[in-house]
Amino acid sequence: MRNNIVKNILIFGLIFLIVSGVFSLLKTPGNKPTKISFNQLIAEINAEQIKNISVSDNRIDITLGDERKQFTYKDSSEGLTTVFKNYNIDQEKLNKIDLQIKNTSDRGIWLSVVLPTILPFILIMAFFFFMTRQLRGAGNQVFKFGESQAREISADDKKKKLTFKNVAGVKEAKQELLEIVEFLKRPKKFIALGAKIPKGVLLVGQPGTGKTLLARAVAGEANVPFFHISGSEFVEMFVGVGASRVRDLFKKAKRNLPCIIFIDELDAVGRQRGAGLGGSHDEREQTLNQILVEMDGFEPNLGLVVMAATNRPDILDKALLRPGRFDRRTILDLPDVHDREEILKIHSEGKPLTEKVSLKKVAERTVGFSGADLANLMNEAAIFAARKNKTRIEEIDILESIERVILGPERKSHILSEKEKKIVAYHEAGHALVAHELPGCDPIRKVSIISRGQAAGYTLKMPETEKYLIFKAEYLDNLSALLAGYSAENIVFGDVTTGASNDLQEATKLAKKLVTEYGMSAKLGTRTFGLKEELIFLGREISEQKDYSEKTAEVIDTEVSNFINLCYNKTKEIIQKKREKLDEIANLLLEKESLESDEFEAIFKEKNKGY
Ligand code: ADP
Ligand code: MG
Ligand code: ZN
Repeated sequence: MRNNIVKNILIFGLIFLIVSGVFSLLKTPGNKPTKISFNQLIAEINAEQIKNISVSDNRIDITLGDERKQFTYKDSSEGLTTVFKNYNIDQEKLNKIDLQIKNTSDRGIWLSVVLPTILPFILIMAFFFFMTRQLRGAGNQVFKFGESQAREISADDKKKKLTFKNVAGVKEAKQELLEIVEFLKRPKKFIALGAKIPKGVLLVGQPGTGKTLLARAVAGEANVPFFHISGSEFVEMFVGVGASRVRDLFKKAKRNLPCIIFIDELDAVGRQRGAGLGGSHDEREQTLNQILVEMDGFEPNLGLVVMAATNRPDILDKALLRPGRFDRRTILDLPDVHDREEILKIHSEGKPLTEKVSLKKVAERTVGFSGADLANLMNEAAIFAARKNKTRIEEIDILESIERVILGPERKSHILSEKEKKIVAYHEAGHALVAHELPGCDPIRKVSIISRGQAAGYTLKMPETEKYLIFKAEYLDNLSALLAGYSAENIVFGDVTTGASNDLQEATKLAKKLVTEYGMSAKLGTRTFGLKEELIFLGREISEQKDYSEKTAEVIDTEVSNFINLCYNKTKEIIQKKREKLDEIANLLLEKESLESDEFEAIFKEKNKGY
């Protein structure tokens, strides 16, 4: 931008030079005349030295017989002939001179007087005009700071337009939103019956469940413009910007009725007021207030629907959820097995799959995946297949990619020594064995000692269907399975490694939740302990407010330890009793590195299972 300004100044300087050059050319035709007095002119006339005289206004230009040029001025009030008469000049002599009288008053004055005076003004004005335009163009932020950054998808943008067809699953949500679509399409039908259409719809769901996608699809279905802005975009360094962006956004939208405003990640601005830390706090509140004001400020049947998305409805300011604002809530759940299959179908469009691929099987193996995870999975599978130079994606590519999505890519370069490999094998075998033996654990999908992401090895359990409630017994079984790696290392090698640290951390967290959040400890009874405080702008739990006594804290500590010990002892018991199975799993892992669920189950098939 600086370069541009410098360039402009140079260009203007150049233009100025050229213009003044042209003017000086206009003014000096040929050699330069010398100035003489009027009396000298009379003398020259009397001496018959003059060839011609031209008069324009008061200026008299003289060309002498020898081509020399001179000029002089006369008294402005009288004509030249009268003046000559007054000087008693012989008419004979005058007749010999070629006398021209130019009518200069129009063009002459323009060129010689008016233009030179106003030209600098014109140039200066033009200069400023272009300068400001340049500033706007290049660094438009300076002038457009308060304008909203909303991206608009207009109704006839075929490329970006989405409809409900692009969104799989979330049936209830679509059903609810159909009402909004209907209204935007045919508002009169509703208004005639005196119905008030909700102004604000809040989409609630975990990340990746398709909130943004669904909001766009509503606009696409209704065929109306879509103004999309993210909550975090309102909040800038400068106080007041957010509020003016909100104002501008609503102004823009009202010029394009009917339409949809979509505020993504509403929690970034919509957190409870008066609970913030740091400088952005005032700004956030002002922005939030402005949203509230704007939402109150338009008629319900104007044809403007404000949609917003959040994954944390619990932390939103209560004022946002009041009637007349975001009083509708549409919940987007994680997809179930059927929905997952549908989503996979959408995302395998344009990706050639072999006939053998069963998306149903993939869907069964991806419990807990969100729509975004599934989209990512199909993409990973395509990349994976391409890297192997396949022309079509095989089922194995997709199944392999599941782990990549969950745990990160394989790290083949992570080379373990023989000893380490053996430890990892027993560690994972411990997890797998205990999980297999305990009825509360999900079935084993895969056991592997290939390192992925952070983990040296992994044991993948996955429920057959989604679970919404977990029994205490299941909870404890899972806790046991977590501790089993540590337990196996200890039993087999008589020592433990740092590899179990992550397991222990997880186990402690689980045990603590069991005691303080779920009321599953008989000793402490049916209550919760501790109020979670949040660091507002990070959205993380940083501190826990104690709402219990020191004495209770001690009891919590011992209860957490008790649960962990209980589970740890159980793992020891199982591993000691089934030691030969543990060896079998570990050896097979050392041989094959990865065991799929059927390979793993086969170990238990031969002999009778029992515990
Ligand atoms: P959110 O806003 O809830 O975090 P998005 O709407 O941004 O999630 O979803 C991210 C991506 O995941 C979408 O662009 C889409 O490709 C995919 N996706 C999520 N849910 C679905 C769904 N129900 N149907 C099809 N694709 C989905
Ligand atoms: Mg989103
Ligand atoms: Zn482990």
